[in-house]
Amino acid sequence: MTVRAGILGATGAVGQRLIQLLDPHPDFEIAALTASGDSAGKQYRDAAKWRINMQIPDDVAEMTVGETSPDAVPDDLDIIFSSLPSSVGAAVEPEFCEEGYVVSSNSSNARTDPDVPLTVPEVNADHIDLIEVQRDERGWDGALVKNPNCSTITMVPPLAALDEAFGLERVTVSTLQAVSGAGYSGVTSMEIIDNAIPHIGGEEEKMETESRKLLGTFDGAEVSWHDARVDASCNRIPTLDGHLENVWTDLAESATAAEAEAAMEEYPSLDLPSSPDQLIHVFDDPSRPQPRLDRDRENGMAIATGGLQETEGGLQFNCLAHNTMRGAAGASILNGELLLENGYL
Ligand code: NAP
Repeated sequence: MTVRAGILGATGAVGQRLIQLLDPHPDFEIAALTASGDSAGKQYRDAAKWRINMQIPDDVAEMTVGETSPDAVPDDLDIIFSSLPSSVGAAVEPEFCEEGYVVSSNSSNARTDPDVPLTVPEVNADHIDLIEVQRDERGWDGALVKNPNCSTITMVPPLAALDEAFGLERVTVSTLQAVSGAGYSGVTSMEIIDNAIPHIGGEEEKMETESRKLLGTFDGAEVSWHDARVDASCNRIPTLDGHLENVWTDLAESATAAEAEAAMEEYPSLDLPSSPDQLIHVFDDPSRPQPRLDRDRENGMAIATGGLQETEGGLQFNCLAHNTMRGAAGASILNGELLLENGYL
């Protein structure tokens, strides 16, 4: 079965990554592109300031960008990938779901709504069935599924590995986040070159809440959030792609660095088309992972960790993921693959 996919916000930083990953995808075919009113009506090659180091696929370059409205996209789309600013997503994503479209979204709106699945397939694939609750409550034929914020997704798989093996009680994280995480017009060169910005609006709260929902349990009716306390401090630095994070954990059972390394390396990946062969790569070299060297592992879909050290009551480590691939476009596509595997498309 070929799955016909639309992309909302197709001209942006994440939208371009969605095109890069969907164009060669074995199951999905790009069937519609939308963006703001400034781009609508233009050919994609004229509407998008393309910034990825590959050419725009020829068939995509010639597509006409449409308005972002359920009335303006083909009726026969099987899935919609959304990479809209969250204020726009909050307004239009429910309209698509009401019209029967299944939406896999990057935007931060609705991620912590009780009836919206927030999923990282390797960590909490079972939460996808929250769709049944959502459909009952909202009367939708469509569905809304979210992937988490890019900084959250970077730390959650290693935290899930530690939680499963030793029990997670507390998390403290400090981030070093790349400029592409802010979108193309997010941070100007005058602000970020030769600089670091110790604040990213709303990011700390996203890490503190979304991680607990992802690590929570779903009983068929609701998700009970994990009760670990999570504290985050978020910083923007002048790297292009790849968020690096320093994480401290308190664990219920003591773990040596070697035991934690084994738990992370053995944490299973899935057999979905975009899954990495190995989800978490652990470095022994304490100077790794590094954004430029390690963000592209396994097509940008792996998480890299390193610097594992025992601390009083827990463990310290560093982790890294490609924020627009594993942290955004690739995460939405993995959720799309999960939806397909579970019969929701
Ligand atoms: P971006 O580069 O600013 O792109 C925004 C996209 O939305 C563009 O295609 C833009 O179209 C379109 N858009 C803007 N206003 C619109 C409107 N009123 N109606 C319809 N379309 C509109 O942003 P991004 O970095 O790709 O982020 C997209 C979403 O993903 C955000 O919600 C962000 O929080 C989330 N996210 C981003 C990352 C990341 O690493 N960048 C990671 C995880 C999640 P025009 O080109 O026509 O303006």
